[in-house]
Amino acid sequence: MNTTFDVLVIGSGITGCATARALSRYETSVLVLDRGSDLAEGATKANSGIVHAGYDAVPGTKKALYNVRGANMYEALAGELGVPYRRCGALVLAFDDADRKTIEELKTRGETNGVTGLEILDRDSLLKLEPNLNPEVVAALWVPTSAIVSPYEMAFALADDAALNGVQFRFDEEVLSVTRDPDGCFTVRTDRETWRCRALVNCSGSSGADLHNQLSARKLTMIHRRGQYYLLDRAMKQPFDRTVFQCPSAMGKGVLVSPTVHGNLLLGPTAEDIDDPLDTATTASGLSDILKKAARTWAGLTTRTNITNFSGVRAHLTTDDFVVGPCEDCPGYFEAIGIESPGLSSAPAIGLDLAEMIAGYLTVSRKEAIVPYPVPPVPFHDMTEEQRAQAVSADPAYGNIICRCEVVTEAEIRRAIRRPVGARSVDGVKRRTRAGMGRCQGGFCLPRVAAIISEETGIPLKEVTKNGGKSYLLSDTVDVFLKGGHDHE
Ligand SMILES: Cc1cc2nc3c(=O)[nH]c(=O)nc-3n(C[C@H](O)[C@H](O)[C@H](O)COP(=O)(O)OP(=O)(O)OC[C@H]3O[C@@H](n4cnc5c(N)ncnc54)[C@H](O)[C@@H]3O)c2cc1C
Repeated sequence: MNTTFDVLVIGSGITGCATARALSRYETSVLVLDRGSDLAEGATKANSGIVHAGYDAVPGTKKALYNVRGANMYEALAGELGVPYRRCGALVLAFDDADRKTIEELKTRGETNGVTGLEILDRDSLLKLEPNLNPEVVAALWVPTSAIVSPYEMAFALADDAALNGVQFRFDEEVLSVTRDPDGCFTVRTDRETWRCRALVNCSGSSGADLHNQLSARKLTMIHRRGQYYLLDRAMKQPFDRTVFQCPSAMGKGVLVSPTVHGNLLLGPTAEDIDDPLDTATTASGLSDILKKAARTWAGLTTRTNITNFSGVRAHLTTDDFVVGPCEDCPGYFEAIGIESPGLSSAPAIGLDLAEMIAGYLTVSRKEAIVPYPVPPVPFHDMTEEQRAQAVSADPAYGNIICRCEVVTEAEIRRAIRRPVGARSVDGVKRRTRAGMGRCQGGFCLPRVAAIISEETGIPLKEVTKNGGKSYLLSDTVDVFLKGGHDHE
């Protein structure tokens, strides 16, 4: 049996990371466990990256409450942690009278939720603002406070900050069972270890309901709802400055066309109910559905510069709201489950609330001092020539470009691995630095990134993975070449 932690958090997506960071401000010992090989391997790595303003959630729900509170925290948080964020605003398009009624309802709903600046724009003003919109549009809801963010970079920064302030993270460890013991503590059994904690927090995304149902008599049912995407190259001239939605439906916010914080263009997502929450495949029918719908927004749609397709899975509860807070029939057990959209937007507020509730339950006080988060360096890609020259003279590894598409240097890759919760796989480096995110999708830089990971961590090159588990990059056949030649006898 391992040490008893004050708090054990299951899941290191955006919700678990925000909760861990908020808990790190209190005099508590905190362990975060994740079955993935890195942070943010669930819904947090594959979503639209929109910080929703809060016009869509039904007033009075937890979704509405946390969405608006979380969105209001984002700009300052992203600034403090050096995470890419841009308040670009959003449009919700109307193409007929029924849509017009919907956007008016969304405006009223948003105002009830406390969203400011909402306006209905007519066709002419819209086309002036975004000339590439389908000219059949008749009106739109303008949402100036909507923003875009890099979701996984936010999770990485929150986790690094939490780790700097004492939180421990463990990966590749799946929680299989949770029980409340007679002494009020919890036993958490994973596929590798058994842990004990005084307070347990379930931020486990797609496993949320299963783990909840082990501890509570009030059973929850979860539906796994997949969303697929197209991602277009940032080298193309972007057709839109703002996020453009169509009217939402019961299945979600509909297909959007949106710039990303890194200057790519995102088309999607679909909304399909699936059995396996880990099934992040893309399908021909899903992708063709996106194109059909996105063409309604963007009349000149072209996917000539498409660089990848991906999908993420929403954790939708049949009760259709977030469950956040202490579980009524299991003291010491806290949860943030059913955190589908707008969960990314809501996470900072959910994390703060949960930490405060847990600190109250454990009767622990706030720390007198915290370790400040170091300001991250400007990416080499975004530096001026002068800044680049300075960087190279301070550290020659800045002069070695590893990823040519995204202009990522050796120095940045080494830093990504050395971060408090550093990268251990090629995808981990990719999400922290953008090496491999460009047009060639890692075709050029992947072997070089793998070699740097091996050098930095001591993991033998043959055991470096793309994204954990058995996703090895090298096979035994390749090993023959590594050893210095291949004979054809
Ligand atoms: C297609 C799509 C589009 C979206 N768009 C937006 C958007 O634009 N804006 C917005 O606000 N929200 C959006 N969302 C919602 C947002 O992505 C989620 O609300 C958010 O990422 C949920 O974060 P989380 O930490 O709760 O869950 P996750 O990110 O899923 O994290 C859960 C973690 O728990 C781990 N885990 C699971 N089971 C176990 C176990 N048994 N043991 C150990 N670890 C476990 C997983 O590996 C994972 O790392 C979207 C979601 C999807 C899928």
